[in-house]
Amino acid sequence: MMPPTPKVGGCARLLLFDIDGTLIDTEGAGLRSFSEAFYLAFPEHSGQLFPPLELGGATDHGLIMHLFEHFGLEDLPLHRRRFFESYTGKLAASLEHFSKEGRGRLLPGVVDLLDALAGDDDVALAVLTGNTEAGARVKLRHFQIDHYFSVGAYGDDHHDRNELGPIARERARQQCGREFRSSEIVVIGDTLRDIACARAFGAKVIAVATGAATRAELAAASPDILLDDFSDRERVLDAFQSVFSSPAPA
Ligand SMILES: [Mg+2]
Repeated sequence: MMPPTPKVGGCARLLLFDIDGTLIDTEGAGLRSFSEAFYLAFPEHSGQLFPPLELGGATDHGLIMHLFEHFGLEDLPLHRRRFFESYTGKLAASLEHFSKEGRGRLLPGVVDLLDALAGDDDVALAVLTGNTEAGARVKLRHFQIDHYFSVGAYGDDHHDRNELGPIARERARQQCGREFRSSEIVVIGDTLRDIACARAFGAKVIAVATGAATRAELAAASPDILLDDFSDRERVLDAFQSVFSSPAPA
């Protein structure tokens, strides 16, 4: 079967998907790659303990800034390049290794949902993720959902996730040939940081409780729609329709 072609033109709505905890669960491969890549890039620190990292909703550039500070390394372009070159390779290898052990999965209903949305001429699909673009491509390809997304905003565009919405919107404008108003955009994500990032540029938000945050935590941040997961196809597709008619939050 031919993969769907990313759509150009005619799109009325822009859907910005987070990756980790929303579409996939790498079950630890991401974190493993981060620490292995760090010690590979900076072997002089290999005797020191790796600090705990709060990955949910973070950006990769935000995480590396935190690591540089923790290990007393200067935040130089050379250091960033050295880390991320090593990270992308480690990530691909970790995902392969984990999958041989049966670890790492697409979250429930994701492929059905993406198939249905890709078949809707009204919507454009993009990613809005804290992963670097290279890291995002490795993850999406590993789980065979890369063909759904042709544009996005990434963790190497800015270390602050709240800055990524306007970048994704601009790239979608170039791709689709039209401007998207905030009321025509929805961010789909699993953390409070996804909700904050949507609010930062006035977009709608669908929160899904398949990641780091509990349903109660997400509910307290008042997303436009809150789903347990994407497994109930009719209900989920209905949510993707109705989110655009929900009133703006107070
Ligand atoms: Mg996430």
